[in-house]
Amino acid sequence: MMKGYAMLSTGKTGWIQKEKPVCGPKDAIVRPLAVSPCTSDVHTVWEGALGDRHNMILGHEGCGVVVEVGAAVKDFKPGDRIMVAAITPDWDSIEAQEGYAMHSGGMLAGWKFSNFKDGVFGEYFHVNDADGNLAHLPDNVTVEEACMLSDMVPTGFHGAELADIQFGDTVLVVGIGPVGLMSVAAANMRGASRIIAVGTRQVCIDAAKGYGATDFISYKDGPLDEQVLKLTNGKGVDKAIVAGGGVETFEPVINALKPGGKIGNVNYLGGGDYINIPRVGWGVGMGHKQINGGLMPGGRARIERLARLIQYGKLDVNPLLTHKFEGFDHIEEALFLMKDKPRDLIKPVVVIER
Ligand code: NDP
Ligand code: ZN
Repeated sequence: MMKGYAMLSTGKTGWIQKEKPVCGPKDAIVRPLAVSPCTSDVHTVWEGALGDRHNMILGHEGCGVVVEVGAAVKDFKPGDRIMVAAITPDWDSIEAQEGYAMHSGGMLAGWKFSNFKDGVFGEYFHVNDADGNLAHLPDNVTVEEACMLSDMVPTGFHGAELADIQFGDTVLVVGIGPVGLMSVAAANMRGASRIIAVGTRQVCIDAAKGYGATDFISYKDGPLDEQVLKLTNGKGVDKAIVAGGGVETFEPVINALKPGGKIGNVNYLGGGDYINIPRVGWGVGMGHKQINGGLMPGGRARIERLARLIQYGKLDVNPLLTHKFEGFDHIEEALFLMKDKPRDLIKPVVVIER
């Protein structure tokens, strides 16, 4: 048996005992070295965003050490220190062959941890398709940094990919929690000129400046479209990345886009049934304004690439790590921090072992 921190049912969490996961031929069983709770865990438990789940161990951000591999696994063995993305697709699926591995097995079904199976907040966790989804943890990447490579970096960077950021673009980033901050960093690396960031927590504003944001507005100071149009002399922005807010955020963002503009959405819309597209703001149907929303791609190649940005000093994720805990038993405290979002929080991390 093993211990894990679980969603007991919608709105309820607690420690449970569960059978240790079983290793299939292509799988690995991993003991976590560090884990981090995510806003998505909060949507899952307290907003019922995935529907009801019973006694499901939470967590999808972590790194660890391999304790067991299946007979078909080639590149990993017990004792290896590994990184793993929050999204662990089946790389031999049709969806993966068509370029959408994150939807392998159905829409969003590449997201397995704390969704279709137990997550990483257990004494052990299961990784499917180990050769496709694990990556060796480089010596010069810390366990805390590796946790940020599970989700915050690949998701935030996917926002910049989905928005198709080009040199010189003026970019609006809605939401500068840890995901949006990584979108700011990615937009900056892709050559954005002006980056207008939306958020109110001072700690996030300071971090966003460090990652390349040039202007700041608050969603509490009036409609976003009005504020963005004022800042840009009525022209609007080339691209927008949405990493915060709710279904109501799209209307002002579409209005704030130039014709031909693109929105990259990585925000998990935890509530509400519909998104309103403003008819006039969308060019009465002919404004060439695109919305690309996507779950981040997981997988080994991507996590290795993104880790290289840390290894070679191009990206520092440490400004995200505002709250650090030592010891497995602190997972509960860290998750509740994520739920309550004190104003000095960006991201908590729990180090279990170095
Ligand atoms: P946070 O809650 O830390 O940050 C949210 C940001 O949005 C904050 O800057 C907040 O501002 C801002 N915000 C809140 N309300 C509004 C509003 N009405 N209008 C505009 N901005 C607003 O979240 P995270 O960075 O942790 O995560 C962001 C989203 O990404 C979450 O929904 C999460 O579930 C999702 N996600 C998606 C993944 C994917 O694969 N697509 C993976 C991981 C996460 P303030 O400063 O006031 O708090
Ligand atoms: Zn996450």
